[in-house]
Amino acid sequence: MRLVLVGPPGAGKGTQAAFIADKLGIPHISTGDIFRANVNQQTPLGLEAKQYMDAGQLVPDEVTNAMVADRLAQSDVAGGFLLDGYPRNLGQAGVLADSLDVAETPLDAVVEILVDTEHVVGRLLSRGQGRSDDTEEVIRHRLGIYASETAPLVSYYRERGLLRSVDGVGSVDDVSARVLAVLTA
Ligand code: AMP
Repeated sequence: MRLVLVGPPGAGKGTQAAFIADKLGIPHISTGDIFRANVNQQTPLGLEAKQYMDAGQLVPDEVTNAMVADRLAQSDVAGGFLLDGYPRNLGQAGVLADSLDVAETPLDAVVEILVDTEHVVGRLLSRGQGRSDDTEEVIRHRLGIYASETAPLVSYYRERGLLRSVDGVGSVDDVSARVLAVLTA
């Protein structure tokens, strides 16, 4: 299956993505994780991305799209993939759709994890992973970017008949079960 997971920061996307990818036997591709690995290794990509990440802004599309295109060209995605954190705006969604169309491998579904914003701020502040972009100010900024840039993807994918929305409030197991249910329905 070729899947995209969408939801605000702190919706539990990463946890769900890892679970579902494992369950379906497909690679979990998190653009945030790839960026963080590059920041840690101080690669040129990491040095460029860090300034945006620390400010809670999106890394420019040219950089992000090229990174994802590289990842999707690797052989382990031939049987499907789960994208977590990408696309993040309509421009990225268009680039992804074009490249998947060319390869005749369109998306099967887009799972939206629904949680309200106040819930999310509390979750992120208590996450305690020491991420440099988990301060309250940056979290609020990331949520603002989500609302303005990423939320329009929901209508975009709904219009294309791909959207499956899932209530993201509850235990990890409950939410996972809901996600698997919408994917197998
Ligand atoms: P995440 O782990 O998905 O919350 O991503 C952490 C940060 O990485 C984001 O706040 C952005 O700065 C950057 N990032 C991750 N994915 C993307 C993307 N698709 N487009 C632009 N920036 C991204």
